[in-house]
Parts: sequence; structure tokens; C-alpha cells
Amino acid sequence: MLGPMREDTRRWIEADKRHAWHPFTPQGPWTADDHEPLVIVRGEGPWIWDSEGRRYLDGNSSIWTNIHGHAHPAINRAIVEQLGQIAHSSFLGFANPRASELASRLTGLFPPGTLERVFFSDDGSTAIEVAMKMSLQYRMQTGEPERTRFVAFADGYHGDTMGAAALGGVSRFFERFRRFGPDVGFVRSLAGLDQFAASEINAVVIEPLIQGVNEMRPWPAGMLAELRDWCDCHGVLLILDEVMTGFGRTGTMFACQREDVIPDFLCLAKGLGGGYLPIAATLTTAPVYDAFLGDPVNAFYYGHSFTANPLACAAALASLDLFLTERTLEELPAKVEHLAKLLEELASCEGVVDVRQCGLVAGIELRAGLGSPVCLRARDHGLLTRPIRDTVVLMPPLCVEREDLDLAIDALKAALAGV
Ligand code: PLP
Repeated sequence: MLGPMREDTRRWIEADKRHAWHPFTPQGPWTADDHEPLVIVRGEGPWIWDSEGRRYLDGNSSIWTNIHGHAHPAINRAIVEQLGQIAHSSFLGFANPRASELASRLTGLFPPGTLERVFFSDDGSTAIEVAMKMSLQYRMQTGEPERTRFVAFADGYHGDTMGAAALGGVSRFFERFRRFGPDVGFVRSLAGLDQFAASEINAVVIEPLIQGVNEMRPWPAGMLAELRDWCDCHGVLLILDEVMTGFGRTGTMFACQREDVIPDFLCLAKGLGGGYLPIAATLTTAPVYDAFLGDPVNAFYYGHSFTANPLACAAALASLDLFLTERTLEELPAKVEHLAKLLEELASCEGVVDVRQCGLVAGIELRAGLGSPVCLRARDHGLLTRPIRDTVVLMPPLCVEREDLDLAIDALKAALAGV
């Protein structure tokens, strides 16, 4: 039985339980009579409100997407202005102004002559899917069709479409589908790469600097640059999955900039649209692009109905503008440092096993069994987030203030003391 609540809330929950199916969710417990899911109705800055009027800090940026906070007037305005022109037009056969601007803005974030082309899609999984198919076709069209193997890292996560899922190392999610997918070998570290015949490898795929779904585990410093060298040495393409790390999360605009690495494919999504509308991009180099010219049979026959949707492109452009006008990256180091101090305090609390941080991304590993109860309790103290197994993710919008970080850590301390 649901407890006392507003009539609207009750209606929404009942309809949800009767008809909706949630991602990554065991539906049995979700639809149990006494489960009262929060219904999120509003957001402003780093805060979100549920249908009962309770306010929470958006502790995981609405699944790692939100950058400048919710309902930012500049992003809202950009979307509304575009809405007044046209909500959607096809990118198949037509250009649109916002997509033209966004493609040139994105390539402009990298040194000239490096990542020069942008292929748009809709979410992180499709950004990866594009890199996979594009890289395989590139090999076919450049005389190396035998290079078909991908190498990915154990416990990594790259999305849920069939191709992207094949690169995923989390066996609980992906094992049952593995036999349907492409040829993928897994390694735990760079040393493992030498167990494969390099001449058969098409590309290595990695979440740079930090694995997200693998409970926020950073790689050793220098590893990415070393991987780039290894790929260059063996003619292997490098696909960087910056779906989580892109757009300031780790302290620089992109994680690869921390080690001066330019990949052959860079996959972006989540924060690309500021966390407002779904949009993704796969950036690549001129040599890759050039291999698709010439005979039309060699074109890249791939795309989706909403590719380069003008509303989403408008949101992405407004988000990029805010990085400049609000000095988002310049404001970050003080916040990152403050978070580090708070995490150091938290590390000594009863129940905390380890704390890991990379920029404004933190994983707080708790004793087995504590992840879910602590996150549930933290809601009572104004923090909304989710655990990955027993690691609590703390990854608020970049616009968060230092006192908001204080609130988050205080909420976790209170929750830990209460379980
Ligand atoms: N790659 C990484 C590193 C991710 O963290 C995710 C999602 O969490 C994805 C890809 C898939 O993105 P999406 O859920 O938008 O398909």
C-alpha cells in the first residue's frame, strides 16, 4: 500500500507501475505495493524537486548528463528560440544552421588538423556504435579488412545497443548477449594488450582517465598517453569514450586533454546537450573521413531519424557558450579541491571502504550492503543519488557551489550514521 501522498503523485505512481518499464531495474521490487518511487517534476540549478514538493541536490546530475544546472535561462531560451523556427528537420539530405555551427564549434575545441569531422547521433551508445562501424568500414576500405577485433577493458561500460554492449565488461549486463556481437577481447591493463596479435586488432576502446560504471575507478596517471603510443606503434585505432568524462567532468573540457592525447574517434553524449536534450557526436580525423569518399558504395550508410536535431544542437551550442560566459572550467579547480577535502573527512567515517575522485566525479565505496540504504537515507537529508553496487556516486552539475558540496557530504555522513 502506498502511504499518504498528493493525489497527483499517487496517480503517476500507479500509472507508472501499471505500464512503464524502467532501465536497469528489477521490475518486481519496483512495482511492489509498498515501493514509493520519487516522481521528479521540476529542476533549477543543481536542485530538483519531487511531486511532493521536496527539494534535493541532483547528486548524479540526472545520470551524469547535467552540466550547468537545470532550467538555465540561457539554455531554455536557445531551445525556445529554435522551437519558434523548427523543432526538427532531416539531416539526411539537408543541412541545418545549428548542426553546422555545432560541428564547427566541436572541431574547434581540438588542435587544427586533428579531429576534423563530426558524425551526430542520439546518445552515448550510438556514438560508440558509430565509432565501431566506422572503424571497421575504414579498415575494409584501406586494405586491412583482417583487422576486425576490438579490444576493450575489463569491467568497462560503453552503452547498451548490441555493438556497444559487446564492448562492455560487466558480465551481469552483457554476458548473455556476447555470442551475438562482434569480436572483442578484454584486458585489465596495458600489459594485457600483448596477448593479442596486434595485426588483427582494429581498435582499442577505453573510458579515459576513469571508468564510470566500474564504480568510478581512475586509471594510473600516464596510462592514456602510453596507450596512444602503443596504438601508434601497432597501427591500431584508438576510440575514446568520453560519454561520461566529456564537458568538464574531470577538470578539463575533455579527459584526453589531461594527457595530450588525440584519439582516432572521440565519442561524446550525455553533457553535450548540457543535459537538456539527447544528442551525441563521434568526432574523427581527416584520414578516416577520406576513406569514405569516392565510390558511393563506400559511403557510411548509417544514421537515425533525429540525427542532428536542431533543438538538441541549439541546447549544445548554448551549453558551450556557458562554458565561456560562466567560466565553468576556470571555476572548477576550487570546487574540485573542496570536494577532495570533504572526501578526505568522509573517508574516516564508519562504513566507508574507499573514496575515489577525478575532477568533480567521486565514487564513495561503502561496506557491502550499505550502498542502497545509504542513498535512500541521504534523500531525507536533501541529497539524491544512486549507488553502483556499494559505491555511492557523487557527480553534481558543474555549477554546484561549495556549500552544496558540504550539504552532499553532510547528507552522506548523516545517512551513514543512520543505517
Ligand atoms: N559510455 C559511457 C562511458 C557511459 O557511462 C555511458 C552511459 O552511462 C554510455 C557510454 C552509454 O550512454 P547512453 O546511456 O547515453 O547510451
